[in-house]
Amino acid sequence: MIVVVVGVPGVGSTTVTNKAVEKLKEEGIEYEIVNFGTVMLEIAKERGLVEDRDQLRKLPPETQKEIQKLAGKKIAEMGKEKNIIVDTHSTIKTPKGYLPGLPIWVLEELKPDIIVLVEADNSEILMRRLKDESRNRDLESTEDIGEHIFMNRAAAMTYAVLTGATVKIIKNRDNLLDKAVEEMIQVLK
Ligand code: AMP
Ligand code: MG
Repeated sequence: MIVVVVGVPGVGSTTVTNKAVEKLKEEGIEYEIVNFGTVMLEIAKERGLVEDRDQLRKLPPETQKEIQKLAGKKIAEMGKEKNIIVDTHSTIKTPKGYLPGLPIWVLEELKPDIIVLVEADNSEILMRRLKDESRNRDLESTEDIGEHIFMNRAAAMTYAVLTGATVKIIKNRDNLLDKAVEEMIQVLK
């Protein structure tokens, strides 16, 4: 089983995923989480293109796509003999526009069964970004965040039409992390 988890930066998709996988492990259900950005970062670092993960989306789109393709191949290889969750993005907001996180050549390699969109209110996301000092998050208005969420939904549904994957939306509301984790567990079971 290949599950793709996406969400705008700062929504907490990584947190929800990690917690759900931890709990499932106690029940004997194993998933390996693969972070697409980490695989891309390793490739980009080897080439001396970036120093941190937040510089990736500022690279020329052609370079991002080249690295993305290589990362997709690597991850598809890992997913052959076990259940994996790919922690990634439906679209990446670049200075040159929204870049699809799963263009056709990546989808054909990965063949996801389920695409999970982790969402929250625009203002909740804005506040979470402001509080997160570990990352170089882009400063965006609530309106911009809303646009990104909309584009992520549109892109996710396109990926579903191309692959037959199902699309699940999970809300990660303030102070309701446990509820989001529980929903994620139900999807992964
Ligand atoms: P993250 O740690 O999930 O925010 O990912 C770090 C960075 O990796 C993102 O800001 C993107 O630049 C890049 N990235 C992650 N997934 C993809 C993808 N599917 N396609 C292109 N770039 C990606
Ligand atoms: Mg993340």
